[in-house]
Amino acid sequence: MRRRQSRLRRQNSRPAMKLLDGKKGLIIGVANNRSLAWGIAASAREHGAELAFTFLNEALERRVTPLAQSLDSPIILPCDVCSDEQVDALFSVIAEKWGCLDFVVHSVAYAHGEDLANRFVDTSRRGFLQALEISAYSFVSLAKRALPLLKPQGGNLLTLSYYGAVKVVPNYRLMGVAKAALEACVRELAADLGPDGVRVNAISAGPVRTLAASGISDFRQLLSHFEARAPLRRLISIEDVGSAALYLLSDLARGVTGEVHYVDAGFNITAV
Ligand code: NAD
Repeated sequence: MRRRQSRLRRQNSRPAMKLLDGKKGLIIGVANNRSLAWGIAASAREHGAELAFTFLNEALERRVTPLAQSLDSPIILPCDVCSDEQVDALFSVIAEKWGCLDFVVHSVAYAHGEDLANRFVDTSRRGFLQALEISAYSFVSLAKRALPLLKPQGGNLLTLSYYGAVKVVPNYRLMGVAKAALEACVRELAADLGPDGVRVNAISAGPVRTLAASGISDFRQLLSHFEARAPLRRLISIEDVGSAALYLLSDLARGVTGEVHYVDAGFNITAV
């Protein structure tokens, strides 16, 4: 009995296993501490990863910088995914400071307010192209830049999707098309980069009140419908997304690629 107790004491005093110890990751898409990317960053840092952050513009720089500093980030840079110059500059700083990269988290989406508010049939050509460029193509362009830095047999790309990619969700409209394209990009990239040892996955998160979500009309109704119907009868949190991302970014998911992993309290399996 005494021997068992001392063994248990020894086990409890061991440091908890850190799943991303020694890994370096780039997080694109933190706007504030409610961002899904922030949930992922906090969880990755807690598990030992060193993180680089980007911000879209000056207004967001003021929010992102203190958050990134609170996780000891050595790299905090501007990055509008539509600007090849900014994306190139970002990857050259990472190459210079780190020389390699283990993972990239792409948590970026945008569509014009009027294209989300109007009938889908009225979507403008400009709005359509911009939404697809920012929300889907940017994942491909980041993958291309990251590839030379990703460590062989271990590189990892992760993006964020939503159920509107596969079903019509009220008021999601153009973003549903963009997410469908993004999920197809996940599969294409996974097939293309798998032989290089790079895994590519998406998390399809349930609705969470964030800055981006504020662009969807009647979002509060969407949340209450979700909470009432999801098998777990609850909303999801950015911590839920962070935990699932930790699994996908770590070696625990070494056999998983091209996957769209739902973190939605089971909502996607329901028919109502
Ligand atoms: P958020 O507003 O916190 O994050 C969106 C991010 O996209 C912001 O940081 C913004 O700066 C960035 N962004 C927009 N245009 C950009 C550009 N041109 N270049 C670089 N960055 C740009 O909101 P969020 O909900 O955390 O969104 C993150 C991702 O999660 C998005 O892809 C979103 O579609 C997805 N998602 C959100 C929900 C939800 O309910 N909130 C559910 C499922 C998936």
